[in-house]
Amino acid sequence: MAGLESIPEKLIVAFVVILISFLQLTTNFYVLGPALGGWTTLFAQKLLAPMNILLISLYVNYYLACTTDPGTIPEGWEPPSSVLDPDESVPIQVGITGPRFCKQCNCYKPPRSHHCKQCRKCILRMDHHCPWLGNCIGFGNYSYFVRFVFSVMTCCSYGGYLLLWRLQRILDMRKSVWYASQVSTAELMVIAIDLTLIVIILILVGVLAVYHTYCLLKGQTTIEGWERTKTTRLVNRRKIDPVEFPFDVGFYHNICSVLGYNPLLWCFPLPSPGDGLKYPVKPNTDPLLPYSWPPRDPKDLGPSIIERVEQEHKWDGPKLVRRDSEGYLVKEITMEDRMKMLYAENLEEEQIVMELNPEEYYYDSNTSDITDYELSDRDEWQDED
Ligand SMILES: [Zn+2]
Ligand SMILES: [Zn+2]
Repeated sequence: MAGLESIPEKLIVAFVVILISFLQLTTNFYVLGPALGGWTTLFAQKLLAPMNILLISLYVNYYLACTTDPGTIPEGWEPPSSVLDPDESVPIQVGITGPRFCKQCNCYKPPRSHHCKQCRKCILRMDHHCPWLGNCIGFGNYSYFVRFVFSVMTCCSYGGYLLLWRLQRILDMRKSVWYASQVSTAELMVIAIDLTLIVIILILVGVLAVYHTYCLLKGQTTIEGWERTKTTRLVNRRKIDPVEFPFDVGFYHNICSVLGYNPLLWCFPLPSPGDGLKYPVKPNTDPLLPYSWPPRDPKDLGPSIIERVEQEHKWDGPKLVRRDSEGYLVKEITMEDRMKMLYAENLEEEQIVMELNPEEYYYDSNTSDITDYELSDRDEWQDED
């Protein structure tokens, strides 16, 4: 929903709070409370308690997801020296480019972090920027976001069930002589409005709940879901060497890495374990891979840039690229070469690429974080949440 971008995020958050409060107050005090013999009776309390406990969980997790810092890169953070200065004798796979660097923030990027255009900074384990929460969803608040989504689903399902029960009772009473005195048109209208809202919420949040359940089980973020699709495409087209997503460590451990290592506490609003700077990876993962994920299409480095850098900087090292008949990289480049290339690229890229190819300039100016280029698409998709 592109239109959401023009609405101040605080207004959207206020709308969400008013919507939840409206549903809570009307179902509790106007429809179900009186229908169950009075809101304060034990019978009503017992039936309404699950819904109200879920509502508390919903409010607490929404508040925490909105207000908790999603996580930013500590000043001066650098990848370990083994990554910055790797063993040159070990060949590097085509597609792995070395530590990622954010040109906007002028710092190295920890694994899984991405630059958010709305927040204008890098966010640890960034999932997406959510206008419904007025906040970025990242390492610091993803666990609250997930609990909020599940609370909405369970709370709305249970509330919707109770409202349908009441509606059924009303329909059953229609022929009774007491009908007129027990059922008001206003109550019927409130039930209709509440049920409509609940169905809309269940559909919209349901899509999100299903997708984030999948992400939780696969150990990936929304952005990484897109990156994995793109990586598979690059591997299938043989543009890069086969590579596996490194952060998927199995269903159970993937969930633990977000909701904590004690399943009894998964429902409680607790932060994710860890510091957001390093993550468990699959056994036998190349130590460089977590710092350089996602793999890059060698084409995006721009042959003309590399070749110009070779010429203009009087490159004295080995030839940087050699291309096969289809123009794909066929030579493995050492880590040092890549670092030099990236450094030279940073210095010269704008003037070189703009001269050569304006399209390439657009793409290449984003190579420090290729997902920035795609984030606008993802955000539009996320606006559906
Ligand atoms: Zn950044
Ligand atoms: Zn953001």
